[in-house]
Amino acid sequence: MIRRSLVVILIATCLAPLISADDRTPTRELLLARNQEFQQEVIRVSERVYTAVGFGLSPVSMIVGDSGLVIIDSGLDPASGRRVLAEFRKVTDKPVKAIVFTHSHGDHTGGAAALVQDDTEVWAREPFNTEQRLFQEAGLTITQIRGFRQFGVLVPEDEIKHVGIGARYFPESVSNAQDSVEPVIPTHTFSSEGTTLNVAGLELELVAANGETSDQLFAWFDAERVVFAGDNFYKSWPNLYAIRGTGYRDVYAWIGSLTSMLKKKPHHLVGGHTRPIVGEAKVLEVLTNYRDAVKYVFDKTIEGMNKGLTPDELVEHAALPEKYRGLDYLRPYYGHPDWGVRSIFTGYLGWFDGNPTSLFPLGPREQASRMAELAGGREALERAVSEASEAGQYQWALQLVDHLLRLSPNDRSLLLTKADLLDTMSEQILNMTARNYFRAYAFELRTKVES
Ligand SMILES: [Zn+2]
Repeated sequence: MIRRSLVVILIATCLAPLISADDRTPTRELLLARNQEFQQEVIRVSERVYTAVGFGLSPVSMIVGDSGLVIIDSGLDPASGRRVLAEFRKVTDKPVKAIVFTHSHGDHTGGAAALVQDDTEVWAREPFNTEQRLFQEAGLTITQIRGFRQFGVLVPEDEIKHVGIGARYFPESVSNAQDSVEPVIPTHTFSSEGTTLNVAGLELELVAANGETSDQLFAWFDAERVVFAGDNFYKSWPNLYAIRGTGYRDVYAWIGSLTSMLKKKPHHLVGGHTRPIVGEAKVLEVLTNYRDAVKYVFDKTIEGMNKGLTPDELVEHAALPEKYRGLDYLRPYYGHPDWGVRSIFTGYLGWFDGNPTSLFPLGPREQASRMAELAGGREALERAVSEASEAGQYQWALQLVDHLLRLSPNDRSLLLTKADLLDTMSEQILNMTARNYFRAYAFELRTKVES
């Protein structure tokens, strides 16, 4: 499917444009090294806190109380939930008294059916599940297709065993009778700034923390100074915008949530994905850099917006400084700073970039036709695609081939050219959601050609 030999030659001869100047480690090596992050293991974070990583897309944590357990997040599906529970049962057989959902995303709530018992309290924050509810009300379904692409559900597995923030793990089948259970609905919610949970002899503070979602919370276990951050922290540039499509994720509030976590002076940091960070000094350093890096991008974006810059210009204006780019936990394995910049712009100002040229642009087909004319005809435009590709200017080649495809949407040769370009580019990209999206889209194009 992928022209392997071509890809290898191209990688060997071209500089990967998404590798920063201060980072000489090849993209693929970084991605392979990251497999380690998602090895299955139950990590003892502190005396009573255990975190299971690598079983599903997100970690599942257990706090052992005198008379029972509190579970933080439940993983993606009941099958992975059962595997985690079996591991926890090697430590303790105490009953599960409460489950806390850090937010409503399915990779954190989907395993709860395997963990709840008859009287388990299930805690979450209101307004729970707003994002999905809004999509459903509007009849919006494209996010599912785009989500499949983002996670590479249909692309062949290779030696990179993860999707950027978690193990490459997809539920075996939705038709698996054992797993086709109703989702677990929270039994207890709060809508204030926070609440305190007293259960199983444990005290746990739940703090409202808008960020990736508007129902996000972080849990604070003061007795052992452990913060469970939900998806407002994991080791990667945060997903300020998800390419599957999302409403605006409030970056300003997200920065505030990170500051609130810092104020707790945690000794241990359990993120919504990736392995926990243990040790006061390291947690302080990581959380501070993380907050400051996001704040830098936010502040520079707003500054540029006030100068009238457009999203394309802002991506350059608000580029992440080198001091942050070399930090592994800020590398764009999952989210990407460029997308965060664009999202902040549209989150505040909507689609209009401020340039009157953009108010009534020519339609895509009209533009394509004029581009071909400008190039000296379609054949000249096709030659320009080949030349750009041979020169390693893949993004430019992609933009040019899109013009040609607008004029000839079913041209098999053009479709395959685009697929080749996407596959080649995917090998140069550190960001796993983009990598998967490129590969998945290329797969779809090839399927279209074969049908
Ligand atoms: Zn998540």
